[in-house]
Amino acid sequence: MNEDSSAKKELAAVKGTKDILPGEVEKWQSLEVLARTTFELYGFRELRAPVFEATELFEKGTGATSDVVTKEMYTFTDKGGRSLTLRPEYTPSVVRAIIEHRLDLEGSPMRYYYMGPMFRYDKPQKGRYRQFHQVDIEVFGEKDAAVDAEIIEMAHALLGKLGVAGTETLVNSVGCRACRPAYSSALREAAAKRKSELCADCQRKAETNPLRIFDCKVEACREVAASFPSIQDFLCQECQDHFRALLACLDVLKIPFRVDPRLVRGLDYYTKTTFEIVSSGLGAQNALLGGGRYDDMMKDFGGPDICGTGFAMGIERVLSIAELVPPQKKTLYLAYLGDEAKKAALELARFFRSYGVECLVEYKDRGMKAHFGRANKLQAAWVLIVGENELKSGHFGLKDMATGRQVDGPREELLALLRES
Ligand code: AMP
Repeated sequence: MNEDSSAKKELAAVKGTKDILPGEVEKWQSLEVLARTTFELYGFRELRAPVFEATELFEKGTGATSDVVTKEMYTFTDKGGRSLTLRPEYTPSVVRAIIEHRLDLEGSPMRYYYMGPMFRYDKPQKGRYRQFHQVDIEVFGEKDAAVDAEIIEMAHALLGKLGVAGTETLVNSVGCRACRPAYSSALREAAAKRKSELCADCQRKAETNPLRIFDCKVEACREVAASFPSIQDFLCQECQDHFRALLACLDVLKIPFRVDPRLVRGLDYYTKTTFEIVSSGLGAQNALLGGGRYDDMMKDFGGPDICGTGFAMGIERVLSIAELVPPQKKTLYLAYLGDEAKKAALELARFFRSYGVECLVEYKDRGMKAHFGRANKLQAAWVLIVGENELKSGHFGLKDMATGRQVDGPREELLALLRES
């Protein structure tokens, strides 16, 4: 490797991360606007938490036996000797913020949303990154299954606005602390019988947390797991009733769904409802969003006994199949000739911008033909011609680049035209 290419390599973006450049970023911005406006229709408000937190928060919240905590966290010691972690998910941060600021005293339910980067040391591949972005929503203090249905419907509403079609909604209940232990024992027993057929990782999970075997992507493990007992046969009355109520509300909202008794999700904290929306348009990483209920998390953190439910949607995955057409930019390019006209163009741009017109002035002497060439390249919608005569008369030429039509007039008249179109 020569010096030049090694320097380039050193300066490249870190594996599993990527730049979102102009050209692509407009889709991100459109998604962010649509997500915000959708969530606010349902009474959600934004809550922004820090990108890093005390490591313990995720060990406690996300769960010590989850893959995320055992294998995927970006953990480091800061200069003060504290163990910190770049957040691998958002829910524990929201729980911490609610407890820390006593947001629960403002009354329940609390509805929050957030959009931002998450970090997991996962094997990078299509649809899986080390810095990826999620849209996250949380509802705390509402135990009714109707709210689970409402957030699933909200996810559908957003995906619809994003032009995402061909999705399937999977739902399940993973029970609660009353009924899950019996299911875990049944699973442990079933896994012990077929231990030799499981991968090394699942052999370990069979003892520590057998539910996690359902997350394994190894085909042999999936086949074995398919023969395991179903959690649906172990739900207590309360969990059964909750699940039935969820399905009834989904019917009311006309959300088609499939009950998938193996849907346990990768994090330790879920209780009762779990759900995923998957897409046939994606490859192996087909989950667009996932969520469920976490009724014990706040209490387990030493906070008030307040239940929670929510979901996280992967922005990269959704954008890879979204049919989004970002609004077309309408730029006014100012073509000036000479020094005096340059100063006038500077001031004219200030004037037009103050009325919301996007303007471009480039400080490079060009002839009129070169200005038009440049305006074309920049895909400007209009060109304002600022020459010596125009300066004297106070009338400028405004050319519509799509039609070639030109109108002359004082700046106020041209502004009216620009704002109309
Ligand atoms: P989770 O927090 O694991 O339930 O993930 C919620 C959603 O985030 C998934 O359905 C994906 O769309 C997305 N997601 C999770 N991990 C990654 C990753 N490593 N890269 C890209 N998207 C991800």
